[in-house]
Amino acid sequence: MNIFFLEFRDPLFSVIVFFVLIFIITFLSYWWGRYRRREDYRHLDRFLKQFRTLPTKVELKELISKDELSQKSWILLAASYSKSGNYEKSIEIYNEILKMTDYKNQKEIMFLLGKTYFKAGFLERSKQIFLEILRKNPRTPQALEKLLLVYEYMKDYKSALEVLEPLDELEQDISSDSVYLKILALLNSVEVSTEDKTKKIIEIYKKSHQQTYMIFEYLFRVNPKLAWEYFDTSKSDVMVDLLWHVEVKDLDLEKISQNSYLRELYTARGDVDLSIKSSVFEFDALINLKGKVNATLSFEYICENCKQLYPFSFHRCTSCHCTDTIAVEFSLIRDLNRDFSEENNSFQ
Ligand SMILES: [Zn+2]
Repeated sequence: MNIFFLEFRDPLFSVIVFFVLIFIITFLSYWWGRYRRREDYRHLDRFLKQFRTLPTKVELKELISKDELSQKSWILLAASYSKSGNYEKSIEIYNEILKMTDYKNQKEIMFLLGKTYFKAGFLERSKQIFLEILRKNPRTPQALEKLLLVYEYMKDYKSALEVLEPLDELEQDISSDSVYLKILALLNSVEVSTEDKTKKIIEIYKKSHQQTYMIFEYLFRVNPKLAWEYFDTSKSDVMVDLLWHVEVKDLDLEKISQNSYLRELYTARGDVDLSIKSSVFEFDALINLKGKVNATLSFEYICENCKQLYPFSFHRCTSCHCTDTIAVEFSLIRDLNRDFSEENNSFQ
């Protein structure tokens, strides 16, 4: 026992205890630091995980009912979901806002919901929403315009034409839509023969002089002879792509020889030799090349109202929903068809 006390009082023992304590403290603080760092990462992961997945319908209902965010914030969020193509979440938000008992801006939110249903392709639901808005607020031109679009997409042209009446009463410009819908109703009618359709479409054109591109696109397709008969050469540039694609056997050489634009266009295409130059760069280049290079024209379509560019022709712009706003633009490209036919010939 004495020996133990003697050793305990030994200064060397104190030094050893001192270093052991330092080691234990250092070791503990090192592990405590590691543990805290790991917990920090985990907390960040847990926090970020909440935003990686979209809130469920139940979560959305809970969040909106808590009223922690303003209605404007929810509308902005719904609009952003809709813009990114997530219509389902956008519709869920609008529906939940509408379910709240003390909601305001009911008409506006219903309008946004109807628009989102339309974008998502739920035409029947969209129709019901716009009809509900109009039942309570008949003088809402925005809802009438959207309802007209819904009917058009549902191919219910009769109802779409009926919507024009209240729009007209609200002093909205309906002339372009009216002609457009009449043509659509006519061309989609199964009871009218093709012959009667061409007669009626020409009557519409003579009366309105609107929707030129749409009318002549149909005429050049089904009856090129009649298309040339009623063709207004002053509008050649409006339908340059239609003219460019008319088959050689359907060309009206008399009409072509009487108009400089047509002479240049068909000389550039290589069907006639009636021009030596053109003020249109693409025509001029093709006239001077005289078929020595495999070049042709490529067409693009632009909406004159919103400047949206399309690779295909359109009758109603899908961006701004205006009709009769198509403008044709063209450029020179390599003629792949000619390349292909020459390649095929080389094997013969
Ligand atoms: Zn447009």
